[in-house]
Amino acid sequence: MSLTRPVGILGGTFDPVHNGHLRLAIELVDQLGLAEMRLVPSARPPHRGEPAASPGQRAKWLRVAIAEQPGLRLDDRELLRDGPSYSVDTLVGLRAELPDTPLCLVMGMDVFAGLPDWHEWQRLFDYAHILLVARPGTDEALPAAARSVLDERLQPDAAALGQSLAGAIVRCEPPPLAISASRIRSLLAAGRSPRFLLPDVVLADILDAGVYRQQPADCA
Ligand code: ATP
Repeated sequence: MSLTRPVGILGGTFDPVHNGHLRLAIELVDQLGLAEMRLVPSARPPHRGEPAASPGQRAKWLRVAIAEQPGLRLDDRELLRDGPSYSVDTLVGLRAELPDTPLCLVMGMDVFAGLPDWHEWQRLFDYAHILLVARPGTDEALPAAARSVLDERLQPDAAALGQSLAGAIVRCEPPPLAISASRIRSLLAAGRSPRFLLPDVVLADILDAGVYRQQPADCA
């Protein structure tokens, strides 16, 4: 079977989308020659509390943030599904639509450390590669189960992503940006400006809608 160019998948809560997400996506598309990066907002993330902004707001901010940016695309399939937003279900859907395309699920090291708690996490490797990204400010110590799957599946050369449909882990080190959505929420809750951490057009809409004015529990 001849394979088409790999497609990246960046899932997250995007509560809100910020320049850390957007630069990461652009750098990976460029560095790895991906056909595109799908940005997949999670409706009901199984591993964390309910996002502060609604699914509709988070999708709208993504849409305006990536408008006219070639290579980045909003994929709202998890918002259209009922029940918890399991990544394995998303990958099953994408694989059915893209049978000849290597799929590359992007994960910051912070997220990868918790992978063994995910619903049917071992099945992820039947559908996708994992693109593992260093994230500034996060501790790289991995629990034993995550360490062992990394040792088993790590490929030293990113070319591996284009050579099979799924199953490898590749590490990637795009220029780091220490930006997080929790810090943006925290600044807004404190009445401070998060300008230049996220697109102006997204910030304007957040301020307009009055989202994140209350101090969220996770960043007190
Ligand atoms: P929060 O602070 O609310 O936890 P977040 O900034 O981590 O949010 P998410 O939407 O949860 O944003 O992240 C989606 C994905 O993007 C995750 O895999 C995360 O590791 C990665 N990511 C987010 N921000 C960065 C960044 N600045 N650099 C590298 N990866 C990032």
